[in-house]
Amino acid sequence: MKDKSSINSPLTPKAELAHDPEALDFMKSLPQTFAEAGKFLSSNHRDVDNNVLQNRIRLATFIRKFHSEADTVHDNIRKQCVLLNDPATKLFVSTHQPNLFAYGGIFKKVALLETLKTKIENCKERRIINLFVIIDHDFIDEIWMRRAQLPSFHHSSGLLQLRFSVNPSKRWQMVCNVPRPGETTLYNWKREIVSWIKKSSSSPSHREKMIDNLNRFWEVVEIAYSKARSYSDFNSFLMSKIINSTWGYSTLFVRLSEISQVLTNGFEFLISNLRSYTDVLGRTEQTLLSHGISTGVSSTSYDKAPFWLHCKCGSKAPISLSKERKLSFKGSCISCKKELALVLDDPRKPDLSKVISYISPRAIAIPLLLSRDLENSCYCSGKGGLGYLMDANMISKYLGIRWPLTLVWSSKDVYYGMAQNQALNAIHMEIPEAERRLQELHSKNNEYGRKTRNLVIKRTELVNANSSLCGILEDLFQLKEEQRRIRREIEIIEKATKIVSLSPCILDYAVNFGMIDTEKHWCRHLLENGNLVSSVYFHQDCSDQDNRKPGFPNESRL
Ligand SMILES: [Zn+2]
Repeated sequence: MKDKSSINSPLTPKAELAHDPEALDFMKSLPQTFAEAGKFLSSNHRDVDNNVLQNRIRLATFIRKFHSEADTVHDNIRKQCVLLNDPATKLFVSTHQPNLFAYGGIFKKVALLETLKTKIENCKERRIINLFVIIDHDFIDEIWMRRAQLPSFHHSSGLLQLRFSVNPSKRWQMVCNVPRPGETTLYNWKREIVSWIKKSSSSPSHREKMIDNLNRFWEVVEIAYSKARSYSDFNSFLMSKIINSTWGYSTLFVRLSEISQVLTNGFEFLISNLRSYTDVLGRTEQTLLSHGISTGVSSTSYDKAPFWLHCKCGSKAPISLSKERKLSFKGSCISCKKELALVLDDPRKPDLSKVISYISPRAIAIPLLLSRDLENSCYCSGKGGLGYLMDANMISKYLGIRWPLTLVWSSKDVYYGMAQNQALNAIHMEIPEAERRLQELHSKNNEYGRKTRNLVIKRTELVNANSSLCGILEDLFQLKEEQRRIRREIEIIEKATKIVSLSPCILDYAVNFGMIDTEKHWCRHLLENGNLVSSVYFHQDCSDQDNRKPGFPNESRL
């Protein structure tokens, strides 16, 4: 979700969690394997009630709208939409912001759910929907929304960063209100990528292949661009094009900013139970913090309403309860600072129907609303979302909201693309060895630092005593030369390890493997290995054959 939480290794509960049985239970409930997830999801069958069914039917309108605007209304999408009318249909959900050339993990959530869906449908059930909710009401200020990273040995930082720059006065706009990038920006991104390929590829034929892959991908980028008006749509249309058109998945997409009215009952329910909501949230956060666990939820959000109030300027305001008798909420717009208020007449029966299009859920409320009003059987999250989910899970228990199976595919992808190969070739060693070498170099560097300082003191003493400096200056020179050499080696090894351990944006996959092969690598891991925590190894069929490094680095280091 919005913040990257600082929960440590969420899939291996840490000692801290042992003091908090509820948090520990939550972490233990996450399946560790594809088979475990499949077993659970094919067993917990039930029909949804009429309220949920009506909400799902309303949802279909917004799903169709998205796919028709993205130009991805394929036959399988139409068929899936019809399933929303059937109370026996199960719903699998994943969510994410429309990040610029999103990183692989976002596509992996969808691949995991689609592979589960196919597997379960083949075994017994035939009615599962895989839904992706685009979190398009977050601020464009969020860094990952407008920065994509590629590993690059030719950059001193080890990274090529593609950026979408935003005028500072517009940084608090919701991403759905930000216009798409200018054509020059798109042109410049491609130019930067072409230059990156030229510098990173190992031979002319290799280069040609990578450029071909890029061109194929860029055709999709340009189609998404031509259909999009907003920045958010540009990024989400591209995702839908890859997922629905290139991969042929039947995953349904919908924009969160458009579905508040589908979730109206849920919003009203949360407002009626606001006291419990904020109490449980505050208490849970305190308990977790006292055990050294930070969920990434800001401490100022405990007493806030579970939703944002939208402002005419294109931004939104966090709001708090100001008067309980008439239920009035107030807050100032993050961007233009205007005071916004929401007054509801009957506190016992809050009616949001007139204002529903001006509100959207805060991070913790999203899984609660989806579960209560659309009854999803599973919720696939990234590691960064686990803090929010832990809070939401506690709240769900107190408010009697069903909780879906939470799924996280936290595996790291291990592969040798152009930049990773170049980095490893430059240091002539694998990552575990590189890390040992780095430790060695750092301690040598410290030792040389100490020696230099001692010599400098000695030099001062000699100067004061009017003695000859001849020998000592020579020693100092040698020491400094050696230290420079060590620092250069540290720099290069650090850069190489950074490159190999980076989780790059989808462009690295598209250029090195093509999107079709990328999906095959992920699915093969799910079906043949199935571990959701251990690394996914890409066995290169299509990449740089001549320049391939033998063996894979030790996964525990990645
Ligand atoms: Zn405003």
